[in-house]
Amino acid sequence: MSRQPVLFVSHGAPDVLLNPGAAVHMWETLGADLPRPRAILVISAHWAAKEPTVSTAATPETIHDFGGFPAELYTMTYPAPGAPALATRVRELLAAAGLPNAEVPERGLDHGAWIPLKALYPEADIPVVQLALQPHAGPDWHRRIGAALRPLRDEGVLILGSGAVTHNFGWLTWGTNSQPRPQAIAFSDWIGETLARDDRPTLLDYRRLAPHGADAHPSEEHLLPLFAALGAAQPGEKPLRLEPEYTYGGLSMDAYLWQDASPAPITLEH
Ligand code: ZN
Repeated sequence: MSRQPVLFVSHGAPDVLLNPGAAVHMWETLGADLPRPRAILVISAHWAAKEPTVSTAATPETIHDFGGFPAELYTMTYPAPGAPALATRVRELLAAAGLPNAEVPERGLDHGAWIPLKALYPEADIPVVQLALQPHAGPDWHRRIGAALRPLRDEGVLILGSGAVTHNFGWLTWGTNSQPRPQAIAFSDWIGETLARDDRPTLLDYRRLAPHGADAHPSEEHLLPLFAALGAAQPGEKPLRLEPEYTYGGLSMDAYLWQDASPAPITLEH
């Protein structure tokens, strides 16, 4: 079994699926082109818990954890099966790395998980497990979690971080096709350039070192899945940056894909 890639996506606003643009089309292309995983572990910005927690649900429900969007969005479901055995394996790996861990039986898939998955794998036939973040524990904690889970890549599991490269609601202009804000571009490009160098110490200190660092993330939970994904990448393994678009003038929809050099990595030029 070849090693699975690691993918981070910016999931955007919940209505991204209703008006599919470049980001949704990119997700569709990724799902079609990436090696098919046996299961998917999602680390989403929209599930926080006191310690790293997995859901053991055999049939996770679709959670519509947003308000004020068109009714059509609340009828969408993502009926992928769960993977209790993978949830157990995640706990084993976390424990082996000296990290705390827990499980809950009923928790379903939040929109940070199901919205990109619906475009990536529309058949909903690949089992999915979610792992909760610890929003106050910071970037390095999540890098450590990702590093502990790296062996899953050789077990056919796609590790999917779902958050946002920029996430300041004050930067958004709803309902228009406004030009991207310079601050959003500057921050996104800094993330891209620093990831391209695999300069992990600088990335971990983004709030101080990046242009508009703390402003891009007034609260940190949407960037933390990126650090989990970074941890799951091998040191020195550099990601492909995918830059489909900015939505609402302030949401960078950048994605990052870490993949082995062999077999031939996809470049998404079509
Ligand atoms: Zn979100």
